[in-house]
Amino acid sequence: MMSQELLFAGLHAVGLVAICTMAYGWFQRFVPHRIVRQLAIGGLLGTGAALSMTQPYIMMDGYQADSRNLFLAISAAFGGALSTLVSLTIAGLFRISMSGHGVLVGVATMTIACISAAIWTQATRSKRRRSWEAWVMLGAILSAPSLVIMAVFDLMDPSVVAARIAADMIGAVFFGRMFESELRRGNRERQLNLEASTDPLTGLPNRRALMDYIDHISPSERESMALLVVDADHFKSINDQHGHDVGDEVLKMIASSLSASIRQGDFAERFGGEEFAVLLRVDRPENGYEMAERLRRELSGFHEVSGKRINVTVSVGGVSLPPTKFDFQKVFRKADAALYAAKRLGRNCAVFV
Ligand code: GH3
Ligand code: MG
Ligand code: MG
Repeated sequence: MMSQELLFAGLHAVGLVAICTMAYGWFQRFVPHRIVRQLAIGGLLGTGAALSMTQPYIMMDGYQADSRNLFLAISAAFGGALSTLVSLTIAGLFRISMSGHGVLVGVATMTIACISAAIWTQATRSKRRRSWEAWVMLGAILSAPSLVIMAVFDLMDPSVVAARIAADMIGAVFFGRMFESELRRGNRERQLNLEASTDPLTGLPNRRALMDYIDHISPSERESMALLVVDADHFKSINDQHGHDVGDEVLKMIASSLSASIRQGDFAERFGGEEFAVLLRVDRPENGYEMAERLRRELSGFHEVSGKRINVTVSVGGVSLPPTKFDFQKVFRKADAALYAAKRLGRNCAVFV
């Protein structure tokens, strides 16, 4: 009878862990905002802890063994303080709603589990993944309050004690490892997405990122926007004169000046080679030329690179975005034609059409 109850409680916990792992993986991928993600993890694991109380192993009236503390500990390990607080509130309120004799002891052990898991999280924090020994240790820590209760109420049946400790240790390794692999998968995916949309030399967004950004601009926003194409003048001779590495450094300098010159909400990217594009908000369409010229002035000048003073000038071609019938290729060709006109005018100038 006892072993059957334990088996059911164990299987129930495994099912809950599997569901929580899937949901956690989903939060990692689709909930980018950190605070919202922590709240979601807290809600998820608090619910897991509460549901684990519905399939317990009853030790005596009011005192039951289940895997609630494991869910709370995972919340502390993967969601931080906010998540732990949410989980503990949900699980605590659920335990209070169940009433019975052990309410106070139940809530107290849950709080102890959260605090000890938080301390364990800090103590075992590392860049690489935690060893399985660390997870076994967490399981042992989580068993301690239950063992104390068993001792106090004279319930120290050796097989129950062994089952309790084994369940907590195996549960912590299994649960912890599953969450860790979801965490790594989510991080890897985010990293790959970032790399796919970033220019490795300058760290600016790349052409793909610009296309994504443009796709999310509404027609009403477009009405007050302009596209500028910025091209370094005679860049080939900078490379020829100073070497390709110095040329690379100049491109980095241009990129950082560009990032510093644009306003918040504007978008600068490296379009390729020594060419950059900027999408920016203009207060009035007639201000387009002024803004292109201001950018040219800020980028052109002497750059101190590898102990050399290099005179860099840029030419800028600009165009207002049409509010309707938006075709990026067409808009870009127009801006490129304006840039070509600036080059023909003698470079180091801006043309806005
Ligand atoms: P213009 O004023 O007409 O734009 O002349 P330009 O020399 O800048 O233009 P051109 O298109 O003839 O040459 C561009 C040069 O930019 C040639 C290429 O080697 C260099 N370039 C492109 N990408 C990089 C890069 O990543 N690093 C370095 N160092 N040079 C690059
Ligand atoms: Mg050039
Ligand atoms: Mg060019």
